Amino acid sequence: MNGHTVPSASSLQASGIQDAKTHLQSNPAIQDLDASKLTITRTTTLRPVPEPDSKEIWSVKACTDHMVMVKWTEDAGWHAPELKPYGPLTIMPTASCLHYATQCFEGMKVYRGYDGKLRLFRPDRNCARLVTSSLRVSLPPFDPVELEKILKAFLAVDGPRWLPKSRPGTFLYLRPAMIGNGEQLGVSPPSEVLLFILAVPWPDLSTSSPPGSPPKPPGLKLLASKDDTRAWPGGFGYTKVGANYGPSFGSQMEGRKRGYDQILWLLNNKQEHEVTEAGASNFFLVWKTREGRTEMVTAPLDSKVILDGVTRRSVLDLAKERLVEGSRYLAGEVGPVDVVERTLTMLEVEEAQREGRLVEAFVSGTAYFITPVSAINFKDEELDIPMGDGTSGHYAALLKQWLGDIMYGNVDHPWG
Ligand SMILES: *Cc1c(COP(=O)(O)O)cnc(C)c1O
Repeated sequence: MNGHTVPSASSLQASGIQDAKTHLQSNPAIQDLDASKLTITRTTTLRPVPEPDSKEIWSVKACTDHMVMVKWTEDAGWHAPELKPYGPLTIMPTASCLHYATQCFEGMKVYRGYDGKLRLFRPDRNCARLVTSSLRVSLPPFDPVELEKILKAFLAVDGPRWLPKSRPGTFLYLRPAMIGNGEQLGVSPPSEVLLFILAVPWPDLSTSSPPGSPPKPPGLKLLASKDDTRAWPGGFGYTKVGANYGPSFGSQMEGRKRGYDQILWLLNNKQEHEVTEAGASNFFLVWKTREGRTEMVTAPLDSKVILDGVTRRSVLDLAKERLVEGSRYLAGEVGPVDVVERTLTMLEVEEAQREGRLVEAFVSGTAYFITPVSAINFKDEELDIPMGDGTSGHYAALLKQWLGDIMYGNVDHPWG
């Protein structure tokens, strides 16, 4: 075997941390990831730091001065992590990831707070999710706590120059990734793996559009998928594996051509038209039930079709805590909501729209943060979604404010 066993679907439901621990106990000979072994080689040629909201930021290729690399081999496990100057990788044409999509990744951000501190947002969740994703494509697990330490060590080097204290309220995007590597072309799990981390300035997709492009009206326009399915029960939609994204770009391009920002991925398109998620973000709908209660609905995790978004989870947690009867956070248009994770169909959305019961919709994710939705094209008909004061639904605006306050240190919170 490959030095690690592929867990059953049910054991994958356990947290990544538990998976990693079980794996180590059953394989005492191989080394786990160990942040204390990190070696640091600093660059001698610093790369230019782009100006906020510049063309270079929108190019999403101005990576920071350094990167982290960690090798895994079947016989030794995880080697010592290296922090070194950013630059190309050398891999053989036979490398597993180039043929069999043995690849997975994470997307997270580091924020420069208004209090001058650098913050990650719930990095334990991202690190654990990378373990879940890696196991789905037979890549080796690791202790996610060590990855979190490595991320912090990386940011201690590149953070100060790339997110200067003079620019509070800015962020860098972090991309930890794992690829199957090695020289053997056999159709089997790789005997060598590379984990690497890079950081890159990323545009604020929730507020701005590229320099020189005409300003866009607020709110995303979504095109509901028709023939194309992103993920299905028993598949791998719940993981951030590269194989989920390449096949979705065709629909995305078609949507863009027709004036839509993202695809709203539906499932069971012959019958129920279940709403799953939007682009690479989770989807939320707020509506009134026939009984007059306000519900905040998002797709459930149990069929493992959608990604367990860190932002999604945080929205659910905050809504359950703060959007309740008697809460000091309620005011004006913002009343208490019932937070519901359940299957939602486009037929229900259409009906609610006809009956005037839609309140608002928004997407959540690291890249798009919290962005309101203004319209959904379903079967070539455009459903208008209410947008509160015209720029955003009230719930979306409030959740965005709460999360932003945590990310940028305006309030003290265990997630930041
Ligand atoms: C990354 C991603 C999300 C959002 O997850 P966050 O952890 O909130 O960034 C949602 N859906 C898909 C398909 C994604 O790839």
